[in-house]
Amino acid sequence: MSILDDHDLRAAVVATAQAMNAAGINRGRAGNVSARLAREGVDGFLITPTGFRYEAMRADDIVVVLQDGTSRGPHLPSSEWRFHRDIYGARPEVGAIVHTHAPFATTLACLDRGIPAFHYMVARAGGSDIRCAPYATFGTQELSDHAVRALEGRRACLLAHHGMIAVGATLESALELAIEVETLAEMYWRALQVAEPARLPDGEMAVVLDKFRTYGQPRRAG
Ligand SMILES: [Zn+2]
Repeated sequence: MSILDDHDLRAAVVATAQAMNAAGINRGRAGNVSARLAREGVDGFLITPTGFRYEAMRADDIVVVLQDGTSRGPHLPSSEWRFHRDIYGARPEVGAIVHTHAPFATTLACLDRGIPAFHYMVARAGGSDIRCAPYATFGTQELSDHAVRALEGRRACLLAHHGMIAVGATLESALELAIEVETLAEMYWRALQVAEPARLPDGEMAVVLDKFRTYGQPRRAG
């Protein structure tokens, strides 16, 4: 396992934030990206600063937020630092978080709709659906509490009248999942123009979830 020094991790947070806009899953200054600090004796994370143009962002602009809510750096952290802190606190396996206002995911979220099991790839987010957390004002503890609850047993959720969150062990996996969720949201939205699509049965989603446990993994000896 490679241990990134802070500078490399800061640069990776910037690259992920820029990639999120380049991939079309976020626009302008919306959204934010964080990565857990894996340094000995440090309980905190790196996060993009508030209201900053991603194209102009550099590694030194990234803010450190500790689990006690204090921050260090030349800028204020993203206004959504609370849900990042609380997700890291609740989910030890999470190493990175991507939050975007992806157009299709946010369209569904504005209709208070999550993404049901209309397609087997919904299981990539960890369960048989992708929930939509109830609305609360951005930056509040209430929104954070809703987000942590909607992510229980999942790696992604929508936020009503706001956007979406995807988490992963790494920045790459969180970004990849955010792109997958937006792809699913677009397909579900398109299907809804014709009719509400049929749901895959729970038993089938359980089979798919089980298959995903080994999907993309190298073959193990023995
Ligand atoms: Zn947001």
